Amino acid sequence: MQLDGTLAYISLGSNLGDRAGNLLLAVRGLIEADLAVRRLSTIYETEPVGIDTDLKFLNMAAEVVVKDVKPSQMLARLLRIEYLLGRGDRPPGAKKPRTVDLDIIFFGSQVIDTEFLTVPHPRMHLRKFVLRPLAELIPNFVHPVLKTEVVELLAASEDRSAVHRWSPNAHTKGEAAA
Ligand code: ADP
Ligand code: MG
Repeated sequence: MQLDGTLAYISLGSNLGDRAGNLLLAVRGLIEADLAVRRLSTIYETEPVGIDTDLKFLNMAAEVVVKDVKPSQMLARLLRIEYLLGRGDRPPGAKKPRTVDLDIIFFGSQVIDTEFLTVPHPRMHLRKFVLRPLAELIPNFVHPVLKTEVVELLAASEDRSAVHRWSPNAHTKGEAAA
């Protein structure tokens, strides 16, 4: 079936408060912002990379169908969701814990480079916490600049930080049943 719209991929992350709840609220925010969520990866727990915190992240990837939405408009909607979920108190780029971080990884095969938006995301190929969840959704998608499949980027990544599938019940293991 022909797809009516463009497929875009968003990386979601949270390392503050109720992390899984924050991801869920962000997904709801996407739907409310007319970014039709089509598929979600599983959730991974990941070590922070390049950011000033010891708090582990939960990360996932979302596939959304966008219609009549420009990449700059999509970014504005993502920033609004971040703001509503409590990121309004920190300047962009601050390497601090965050309630939710939403990054545009791919927007179809478009290549965009403006002051406010770079797509594909310029550091996605360096980050296992982006590549692992993304590889679940589009393992064979070819990066429009690097001309390399997502699974190949993952295999070639030199990021040695821990990225594990997260389970909501894993951390309650061993606790007495109520
Ligand atoms: P990071 O996600 O790199 O930790 P921030 O989320 O704090 O950093 O940075 C937010 C800013 O990054 C946004 O205001 C936006 O203008 C810019 N930006 C550039 N390219 C992208 C992209 N592909 N996805 C999301 N934000 C981007
Ligand atoms: Mg961001």
